[in-house]
Amino acid sequence: MTILVSEVGPRDGLQSVKSIMPIEAKKAWVSAEAAAGVREIEVGSFVPAKLLPQLADTAELVKYARTIPGLTVAVLVPNLKGAEAAVEAGVHKITIPLSVSETHSLRNVRRTHAQMLDEVKGIVALLRSLPKDRRPKFEGGLSTAFGCTLEGLIPADKVVALAESLMTAGCDEIGLSDTTGYANPSQIRELVRRVLSTVGNHALAGLHLHNTRGLGLTNVLAGIEVGITTFDSSLGGLGGCPFAPGASGNIVTEDLVFMLEAMGLTTGINLTKLIEVRGILREALPSEELYGFTPDAGLPLGFKQGPV
Ligand code: ZN
Repeated sequence: MTILVSEVGPRDGLQSVKSIMPIEAKKAWVSAEAAAGVREIEVGSFVPAKLLPQLADTAELVKYARTIPGLTVAVLVPNLKGAEAAVEAGVHKITIPLSVSETHSLRNVRRTHAQMLDEVKGIVALLRSLPKDRRPKFEGGLSTAFGCTLEGLIPADKVVALAESLMTAGCDEIGLSDTTGYANPSQIRELVRRVLSTVGNHALAGLHLHNTRGLGLTNVLAGIEVGITTFDSSLGGLGGCPFAPGASGNIVTEDLVFMLEAMGLTTGINLTKLIEVRGILREALPSEELYGFTPDAGLPLGFKQGPV
């Protein structure tokens, strides 16, 4: 079985650190990961540079990443304006985050669910006006799907209803994000099953899991058990977790790839090469902590390495 590991470090990781990574280092990072076998990378976010100066060079990075053969270049957009910039830059995939917790949505992007769905419809209209071969894939990413730091428990019914609304509005697929690191394996199995049975097997793109409480990889396994084959992760767990000092936020790409390959699943990623990419981060962001058990402990003796 093949699992798609989608690297989100250049977006999710960099947006949560204070340091600004120079564009040349970003390019080196993206191309080194692609050379290690990573097939999809979320390279940035089209938000005003005033809000996230770390990602101000997203358009340039998209243009560069597009020259790497076989790489899917993904970005996050908060609204139609961001989507227009993403299309202009030539991305392959656009994700718009929609927080299932409306309190979080209002706090984060100052928009209600109804306003966000209008934004989604505007993006769908834009994408449908493009020739098919230039039309990026459009994912609705349901954040805080497993719990919210403001609202607490998020009822599964709410997640399912919003997943349906996003598909009706014209999204190609849905993603589920454990933004707060609240999820547990039983909850993953139950919610994934429910969303799959509502939107169909083709329409649940993947899971974006956090390791805030140490359950990141356990939750990946639960997702695999119910048919999920795409997982987001961040090299070195870059960005850490604001709620748990010393803990990674996003699951660590190196540990994820180690678990999958050790289990005999196929990622297409060469782990030795992947671990070497950390050198680029260490050099460009010397003050940021990098996480990961596998890079620290090394590969087990006799570990069967992926493609070179
Ligand atoms: Zn994340």
